Amino acid sequence: MEFIQELLNGDFMPHGHCLLWRTDLLVLHVGGDLLTFIAYMLIPVGLVRLVRARDDLRFDWMFLMFAGFIFFCGATHLLGIINVWHGYYYIHGIIKSATGLISIATAILLWYLLPHAINLPSKRNMQAKIAELTRAEQRLAESNLRLEAEVKKRTAQLEKMATTDELTNLINRRETMRILDIEISRATRQHTPLSIMMLDLDDFKAINDNFGHQIGDQTLKTAAECCCQQLRKTDYVGRIGGEEFLIILPDTTIDRAVELADRIRISLQQYTSANNSIPLCTASIGVAQCHKTDNSASLIQQADEALYQAKAAGRNRVCQAKL
Ligand code: GH3
Ligand code: MG
Ligand code: MG
Repeated sequence: MEFIQELLNGDFMPHGHCLLWRTDLLVLHVGGDLLTFIAYMLIPVGLVRLVRARDDLRFDWMFLMFAGFIFFCGATHLLGIINVWHGYYYIHGIIKSATGLISIATAILLWYLLPHAINLPSKRNMQAKIAELTRAEQRLAESNLRLEAEVKKRTAQLEKMATTDELTNLINRRETMRILDIEISRATRQHTPLSIMMLDLDDFKAINDNFGHQIGDQTLKTAAECCCQQLRKTDYVGRIGGEEFLIILPDTTIDRAVELADRIRISLQQYTSANNSIPLCTASIGVAQCHKTDNSASLIQQADEALYQAKAAGRNRVCQAKL
């Protein structure tokens, strides 16, 4: 108890006596201490607020150490003011010692921290890093775009390869059958006429045998072109076998389809007879119109039967399926 009483003893000679109670000296000392005390109380509050507000501060404990030692410095200045009129030198001494201890601890920790703090990237470093990352990101985006375009191109190429006949550039069998199914559904739904032609080149084996495979291929291409030239953009020609073509004619009645088939037949005959680089080539064509109950198999079968009749009747002619 005595020790505590001694600690709280404020009966020592106040500093005012040293200052001879001169107003100017008192104002200088008390005013300076007061301003310092106010500032040293506000700074720790600011530092604590900063640490609490930012969760990304590196070395936030250092800010708290600074807050602590500045607070104790402020307290010594407060005691400096009180002791102008009183004499609490024990308390003042204890606070000074505490200030010294926390200041020393802060100084040691600051020196320990210094190399790490110096190594922290500067704003310029960060900006350079950000610029580098942005450039890398742009390069990545550009290469992604290039890759996407390449994938699109390759996909289109694959789609074309999957649906196209390489020799004649017509749609292949699978694609022709897919389109036929679609057109039959459309015609049935919309009650519009739909006809097909089954076209087979006559004695094509003999062309191959007599003129060779390359001329045979050339003749196949010519036959494909003759078909395309006579048709509308909405019609489809597919190569469904070696020298067999299926022609799909939406919105076309059988009479119109027979006329068209004859035009194709004549144009092929005329073109190949007039062109010396290709042997004369003719075609037999079976024509059929789709009925309500038809599906692709039954429709093709009718066109096939008509084609067989055309072949049996001597080739180079058009026959229509029986109704
Ligand atoms: P038909 O009048 O009865 O149809 O007789 P054809 O000789 O045309 O029929 P056939 O089925 O006996 O022979 C078809 C020939 O078509 C046999 C085959 O070598 C040939 N061929 C099939 N595909 C190709 C091809 O891509 N190129 C060439 N050059 N010939 C082919
Ligand atoms: Mg054939
Ligand atoms: Mg043939």
